[in-house]
Amino acid sequence: MAQYIEIKTANPDSLLFYRMGDFYELFFADAEAASRTLGIVLTKRGKHQGADIPMCGVPVERAEEYLHKLIAAGHRVAVCEQLEDPAEARKRGSKSVVRRDVTRLVTPGTLTEDSLLDARRENVLASLARAKSGEDGAGDGYAYALAFCDISTGTFRVSETDPARLAADLARIEPAELLVPDAIYDEPAFRELWRTLPAVTPLPKESFDGATAERRIAGFFQVATLDAFGAFSRPELAAAGAIVAYVERTQLGNRPPLAPPVRESGGAAMVIDPATRANLEILRTTSGERAGSLLAAVDRTVTSAGARLLARRLAEPLTAPAAIAGRLDSVEHLADRPALRDALRERLAGAPDLARALARIALNRSGPRDLAAIGRGLMEGAAIAAMIAAEGAPEELMEAARDLAAPPPALPATLLAALADELPPYRRDGGFVRAGFDADLDATRALRDESRRVVAALERRYVEESGIRTLKIRHNAVLGYFVEVSAQHADKLREPPFASVFVHRQTMAGAVRFSSVELGELEAKIASAGERALALEQTIFDRLASEVLAGADHVRACAAALAVIDVASGLARLAVEENHVRPEVDDGLDFSILGGRHPVVEQALRRDPLASGGPFIANDCDLSPPARAKAGRIWLVTGPNMAGKSTFLRQNALIAILAQAGCFVPAASARIGIVDRLFSRVGAADDLARGRSTFMVEMVETAAILNQATRRSLVILDEIGRGTATFDGLSIAWASLEHLHETNACRGLFATHFHELTALAQRLKRLVNATVKVKEWDGEVIFLHEVVPGAADRSYGIQVAKLAGLPAAVVERARAVLTELESADRAAPTQRILDDLPLFASLNRAPPAAPAASADPVAEAVKAALTGIDPDELTPREALEALYRLKGLA
Ligand code: ADP
Repeated sequence: MAQYIEIKTANPDSLLFYRMGDFYELFFADAEAASRTLGIVLTKRGKHQGADIPMCGVPVERAEEYLHKLIAAGHRVAVCEQLEDPAEARKRGSKSVVRRDVTRLVTPGTLTEDSLLDARRENVLASLARAKSGEDGAGDGYAYALAFCDISTGTFRVSETDPARLAADLARIEPAELLVPDAIYDEPAFRELWRTLPAVTPLPKESFDGATAERRIAGFFQVATLDAFGAFSRPELAAAGAIVAYVERTQLGNRPPLAPPVRESGGAAMVIDPATRANLEILRTTSGERAGSLLAAVDRTVTSAGARLLARRLAEPLTAPAAIAGRLDSVEHLADRPALRDALRERLAGAPDLARALARIALNRSGPRDLAAIGRGLMEGAAIAAMIAAEGAPEELMEAARDLAAPPPALPATLLAALADELPPYRRDGGFVRAGFDADLDATRALRDESRRVVAALERRYVEESGIRTLKIRHNAVLGYFVEVSAQHADKLREPPFASVFVHRQTMAGAVRFSSVELGELEAKIASAGERALALEQTIFDRLASEVLAGADHVRACAAALAVIDVASGLARLAVEENHVRPEVDDGLDFSILGGRHPVVEQALRRDPLASGGPFIANDCDLSPPARAKAGRIWLVTGPNMAGKSTFLRQNALIAILAQAGCFVPAASARIGIVDRLFSRVGAADDLARGRSTFMVEMVETAAILNQATRRSLVILDEIGRGTATFDGLSIAWASLEHLHETNACRGLFATHFHELTALAQRLKRLVNATVKVKEWDGEVIFLHEVVPGAADRSYGIQVAKLAGLPAAVVERARAVLTELESADRAAPTQRILDDLPLFASLNRAPPAAPAASADPVAEAVKAALTGIDPDELTPREALEALYRLKGLA
């Protein structure tokens, strides 16, 4: 117990897996937490300070499975092993305890085992740091930065952030574990955010010390200064330093093959907040599955590394047209070359996961198969490079080909020459080095095998000399090699001259066993040859591993290059299969989609056309600024439930994401001016866990959009105001739409069932009414899913309710009530509101006609001046000049 407490005290923030024979045991609070998470029995063992000690245990051979569950639940585990044989401890004295210590810390962000990782997902460890910013003191006076790495693949990046966009950045990065300084961890403002993350690990402020960070990072990468890696801000250094320290601590001195940190430039990625990501189901659906997400619909990669890269690209679409065009060039190149594409994909499918094999080798957790994976991967890489270079290709692919051709050519050859065709999973058993690779090993193995032949020869000699035809030399674990004869012959061996050669060892029923000096010598030779062969194999393993690690930078670059090629050829394949086209992406404000489709719904309908009643109907969407206007349009989409409004809204958001991620898009053509931020407020979901009603969630998200959307943004709003009383809802939707049009001046799609809003198009110049067509036939509604100009005439709610199976009596009664309600005049209130646009009235409307009788010359002059002004067309400077002119008139 003293030993346990000492080790536990050194690892207070981890569950301690304390090895006792064939079990890892947990005690005290650890036991309670683990039994809850794992659903295993909590028992007790012994007493501590007079109280029972709670305990539970997991069998060692099933430890990985339990580790997986604990890590997934956000725990950290310190694995404490027995470092010596119990017999050795006993030798020290009867009271002596087996030496134990922690050999590994397992945390969600630092996993490398294939069994604990999802091959097709990154496993990101991130850290957040801050430092007092300069005298300008914007925001809370601090500058923030994030650093993040995947130790299983080696990527390592840093970027600046701030509290306002931290949630969006974390949603993009998706850390499995986030390290934060205690002080930030405890701040109430962040508490909500921590709850959205799988695991947050607070660390003392020394871990984030900016002053020592530089030295620590330089030490990790074994360089004198960080200058060659670029210039980092203080919080960036602190964040990266914390990652490095944590990795060193959890890997207990082993150094994973991290790439030097790369600095992300701010604004390089489209900003997508967490709610939008969830709503649009980019990487997974709202229920958390990959199937049904955008990623699943467009993923045609054939390698795990390719799948990880595609997910990363969809999570952070670019905002630089040139970089996007670079990716699109690769897709186009391979879309146009089916033979090359298919050949590449076939090769890629056989290529192993270089990055993760490399990480295991660096962390001393590798087996012979990891070494072989490196050899095969590099070999395939060289072949792939040659295939690409042979025809010439766009820059991105050529660069990948150059990386694949760069590693020392001898390395894969050495690895493949050294390793046998059939490989055991673990290095400890030996048997993985190919015969003929190492002369010393071959000789030792020959000796081992030769000794076996010598045994056979010895047996023949003993038979001849003794005349006992049935004499055999056998082997077992207890006696080693021995001579065995049947009971009736045994006496012969006990008499001279044989008595001096054979020593009796054992009498069995019907058989007697003897040893001999010669046999003993042979035995020792065979055993030592086996041991020596094993030792030689271990040396060869270490030599090969260090050769691989010497070329780690190359291997990592090859892994990245293979992923790039896999993504490009997968997307090319998708484009051909699914009829996607290359989007035009530029710096303008256009958003012009012809024949756009929803990639997920389209594929789902194709799989199951009967259930849905037909193929996907393509729709246009043009949010480009009208002639001479300096901002894009907003479409107000009306139409009954089930008509396809949400689908239409989402498909256009997804097309923007795909285009800027460098993918072809599901449309006949697409021209998109860079979208800097994408916002979507789609559907209503309660967030009961956080104690917020549907309506509250909706308003929080809408507030974020109205406060943040810029002229470059794309905003998708579906059914704002649905969660409250009709007039409240209508008013909020109304005012939000005005604000989006006038103040945000963004491009947008606004779906609503408040038909009153369609009247706004008369006033708001860049607002366009659109509706999803339905046909009424025989009292039933037929959905055409076709988006056309104009406003919906009515909402067909009762027909839809009937389709849903509401009892006939209820449907009939509803019709009657509706007729009653509709006879009341509803145009009047709408008209009144229209006539009283308070917020922007002064800018937007021609002033009310002055009564003729009281003609005021000043008013007349102002009126004349105003008629010539179109606020939408004014630059700020022109507006100021106009204001001076007007003031002059008064
Ligand atoms: P709304 O938001 O108007 O209630 P949805 O967008 O949820 O409607 O669409 C309802 C259903 O109609 C979808 O589940 C889909 O199967 C089908 N649908 C929507 N848009 C289309 C389309 N363009 N072509 C074919 N089917 C569509």
